[in-house]
Amino acid sequence: MDVTPILDQLNDAQRQAVTAPSEPALIIAGAGSGKTRVLVHRAAWLIDVEGISPHGLLAVTFTNKAAAEMRNRIESLLNVPVQHLWIGTFHGLAHRMLRRHWREAGLPQNFQIIDSDDQLRLIKRLLKNLEVDDSRWVPKEIQWFINGQKDEGLRPQHIDDDGDPNRRRLISFYQSYEEICHRGGLVDFAELLLRAHEVLRDNAELLEHYRRRFQHLLVDEFQDTNAIQYAWLRLLAGDKGVPFVVGDDDQSIYRWRGARVEHIHRFQKDFPGTHVVKLEQNYRSTQTILNAANSVIANNSSRMGKNLWTEGTEGEAIKVYSAYNERDEADFIIGRLRDWIAQGNARVDAALLYRSNAQSRVLEEGLVNARIPYRVYGGLRFFERAEIKDALAYLRLTSNRDDDSSFERVVNKPTRGIGARTVELMRSYARTNACSLWRAAGAIASDELNGRAANAVNAFMSLIERMVRETAGLELHDKVDHVIHLSALIGHFEKDKGEKGETRIENLAELVSAAKSFEPDPAEEMLPLDEFLSHAALEAGEGQADAWEDCVQLMTMHSAKGLEFPLVFMCGMEDGLFPHQRSVADPNGLEEERRLCYVGITRAMQSLYITHAEQRRLHGMDNFSQPSRFIAEIPSEHVEEIRPRVQVARPLRSSRPTQRRTAAAGAGNELGIRLGQRVRHKKFGDGVILNYEGQGAHARVEVNFETAGTKWLVLSYANLDLM
Ligand code: ATP
Ligand code: MG
Repeated sequence: MDVTPILDQLNDAQRQAVTAPSEPALIIAGAGSGKTRVLVHRAAWLIDVEGISPHGLLAVTFTNKAAAEMRNRIESLLNVPVQHLWIGTFHGLAHRMLRRHWREAGLPQNFQIIDSDDQLRLIKRLLKNLEVDDSRWVPKEIQWFINGQKDEGLRPQHIDDDGDPNRRRLISFYQSYEEICHRGGLVDFAELLLRAHEVLRDNAELLEHYRRRFQHLLVDEFQDTNAIQYAWLRLLAGDKGVPFVVGDDDQSIYRWRGARVEHIHRFQKDFPGTHVVKLEQNYRSTQTILNAANSVIANNSSRMGKNLWTEGTEGEAIKVYSAYNERDEADFIIGRLRDWIAQGNARVDAALLYRSNAQSRVLEEGLVNARIPYRVYGGLRFFERAEIKDALAYLRLTSNRDDDSSFERVVNKPTRGIGARTVELMRSYARTNACSLWRAAGAIASDELNGRAANAVNAFMSLIERMVRETAGLELHDKVDHVIHLSALIGHFEKDKGEKGETRIENLAELVSAAKSFEPDPAEEMLPLDEFLSHAALEAGEGQADAWEDCVQLMTMHSAKGLEFPLVFMCGMEDGLFPHQRSVADPNGLEEERRLCYVGITRAMQSLYITHAEQRRLHGMDNFSQPSRFIAEIPSEHVEEIRPRVQVARPLRSSRPTQRRTAAAGAGNELGIRLGQRVRHKKFGDGVILNYEGQGAHARVEVNFETAGTKWLVLSYANLDLM
């Protein structure tokens, strides 16, 4: 047997890990040291050499994209298709198990997955039903509480209220939320994991079956497993299973979502005799980038301690650019991207990473203007867009009439004369009779509503029934097309004038194409529509059609985990933004931010740019900030500061043309700006200059506006009229 492809291109330590005997193994290694590669080669080795059937392997990765990549790589190493390999995210695999064993799991066959928006809406409705003041009980906090408990594996009856009445109340909300989900056959993300654990724990036969089947459990990004995920793995492994997990304690970035890096230590206790392998040689980045990453992460305490090195080149310095605001930052990045593309590089090899999703907007604007194709991972993804969720809600109702969140979403969309009062009546009927809104609607339409309202409700219900009737037996995409058509959503969005409405209609068309290209998994024994709907909820846009088009990649640092790019920009490196304001006062929080920074730096293969802005408008607020403290943690010999370009600023307009002066680079007083000078601003009105500072493009003034109060403005953007 020729195993050259499997063992070739591995260093000694990697080869040792790949060919290790069938014993629990923990590969703990720094970024870019080949952990994911080892995992892939291990799977190929087990199948090819150890004769394990692909059917007997379970592999967990962090995203659906990574799972697809892993499957491809195993297939190309083995030169055979491995369809039966169970490979996916924890959520994806848990979902698959629940679909198979819905009965044992106590779920209806057509249970629906709800995403976090649906969940929040459900909680809001619950609070309303209970007549709870939602300023005192914040829905988001309740959602946080519920998911947090589920992540720890706890049901309401397991939680101790510690004699605290607030906590008791939260537990009772959790309880009521569970009842609603149970009634509607709704399953949220955290529930997928919790229930997948319970179904194995409580069904000895099933557990035995899966333990026998999956002797080998491969897990990537192990440092980010939470309690319930770990419990599921441990249960599945039992005494005889062989877990093979790879991770990096320095890249644990999901503590806020319940991930526990402590599982790395726990693993060695739970699986005595664990074979531990460390990898330190990096194959991804230049030595300069690694030195920077090593220096930053060295500021964290309680690390397992690793130091990355490479046989590769020293590489170019890390470039730091201080922009004066977020637009200047975007301009700079776009200029560099243009150069990069002009040199013949692929756009897809460049990534723009940011801490918070909202930062993408300005970057996107710049990219659109520069006509550089790009793709945003995360953020508002395809399946999360409002119009798509509307269409999916109709589809979901055709599959499950008791799906309350879908019912509420579209009962009056497009408007059909079902007012808030009617919906309120349905809710109260549903509450009193512990039934779904659909049933409530049927009941009140015949008993309680006046003629007009009753007709409207009946019309809605017959519309859904008509959808079911007319789409029976159709292919999935025809079904989707027909339901969209009957829903009259297109006509509804046509009324949105301009591009927005058009985009929405295009997106609906895109949904039909998505259904067309959707390939049901032959191993899943469920209806294609239900499978498609689950796919939509789970993948939330990861499978966009243009995923592999040559375009610049935009994503948060969190979603960049595990990926690599020749050119990386880390944008918005400012204290308060990154590290995030929430974390600066909390040492644990700060260390998690630093790990995230380490993740960001180690995505870069050849070139790394770090940018920050003195002033940034985000969420409608202007902030002045200091460069991120993480920048100062990079030794200066690895850094090259890039000076701002000479800025041609906009003219400072005067109300009297004869007095027009320009605010080209120069201090305020050269422009006739003096303390006490009266100025007029388009939005803020009249005011008096109190202060000014900075030079050139950075020059700013503090103005006391008569009605708007005191503000700092950047002179070149403020368009002040001198009075
Ligand atoms: P991360 O911590 O970011 O997930 P990782 O440890 O999983 O990183 P990989 O993505 O597996 O690292 O590998 C990083 C890069 O190095 C990849 O491009 C991979 O193909 C390459 N690589 C890994 N091992 C070797 C090797 N022995 N020879 C050549 N290239 C390698
Ligand atoms: Mg990896």
